[in-house]
Amino acid sequence: MIPAARPEIGEEERAAVDRVMRSGMLAQGPEVAAFETEFAEIVAGRESVAVNSGTSALHMAFLAGGVGAGDEVIVPSFSFAATANAVALAGAKPVFVDIEPKHFSIDPAAVEAAITRRTKAVMPVHLYGHPADLVTLAEIADKHGLQLYEDAAQAHAASVNGMPVGAWGLAASFSFYPTKNMTSGEGGMITTGSSELARAARVLRNQGMERRYANEVVGFNTRMTDIHAAIGREQLKKLAGWTARRQANAAYFDQHLEGVIVPPTAEGAVHVYHQYTIRVVDHDRDRFAEELAKRGVGSGVYYPTPIHRLPSFAEKADLPVTEEAAAQVLSLPVYPSMTDAERDAVVEAVNAVAGAGA
Ligand SMILES: *Cc1c(COP(=O)(O)O)cnc(C)c1O
Repeated sequence: MIPAARPEIGEEERAAVDRVMRSGMLAQGPEVAAFETEFAEIVAGRESVAVNSGTSALHMAFLAGGVGAGDEVIVPSFSFAATANAVALAGAKPVFVDIEPKHFSIDPAAVEAAITRRTKAVMPVHLYGHPADLVTLAEIADKHGLQLYEDAAQAHAASVNGMPVGAWGLAASFSFYPTKNMTSGEGGMITTGSSELARAARVLRNQGMERRYANEVVGFNTRMTDIHAAIGREQLKKLAGWTARRQANAAYFDQHLEGVIVPPTAEGAVHVYHQYTIRVVDHDRDRFAEELAKRGVGSGVYYPTPIHRLPSFAEKADLPVTEEAAAQVLSLPVYPSMTDAERDAVVEAVNAVAGAGA
């Protein structure tokens, strides 16, 4: 069976963990500091603050940016629940809007239509590794005096017009969950151009204190450990090579898949293919996935239920493009260690199922 995703853990990561274990310093320390400095290189030098998950990164970024009770934050409903959870955990209200159909990203026109006097921020998600329309969203945020946050959990090293994601908004959040483009086991990173926001995030992740036992605010323990940071540092060295391999796999699929809609890349955008997501329009998507599994090809549906319809939010919203995407998307294996033979097997299986009129 070719799995939908496969984390890449090498000898370097094992040795790095061993190095930290031998040092006896396990919690946040020099490895975290080094990881932050090194990660800044893929976000145009922005200050980076490491935390224990991508969800914590989103949550701490909102709190550090002053998002809270009474505020509205405009988000897409077509994302992982953590996108909206973080808004709600900060005490604000997520306002769900529709996506555009090509890249599954928040629709800038829908954002503009949803702005009220309470709107504090907008947060696009760079879903599947394709950047949202950051040029237009930055213009809208600017025009209406809104904060722009980026959920970059799936888009390490993606870019628009040569500027990396994570360097556009007031702040951005990355995830290092094992299935993401790089991992630290669990972990997350806030990136920002605001030294004030960075300082606030550093204080919040550490019980609200900068100086020990001089707590300034009520804070959290959302620190990253040195063990996780050491893994992340090794993964970061490999990210560029892995991204190139994901892109090569995607280009191969673009060229050889038939009978399904392959994912286009916007002009000026660099897609890093966290997922290679097709649309299945002429078949029942779930049956299509079952048929692929019978042929030894794993796949995934991200996400079958839009966030606004989850029991945790249960909101009424009319988001037709989101609903259609949730019914049609199917993500194929695109991970870097996939062999050429596995890649061909994916193409063969998809084309056979698409052609079978199931
Ligand atoms: C993975 C993910 C998150 C949450 O990251 P964790 O590290 O799992 O907490 C948030 N948003 C999106 C879009 C994600 O894919």
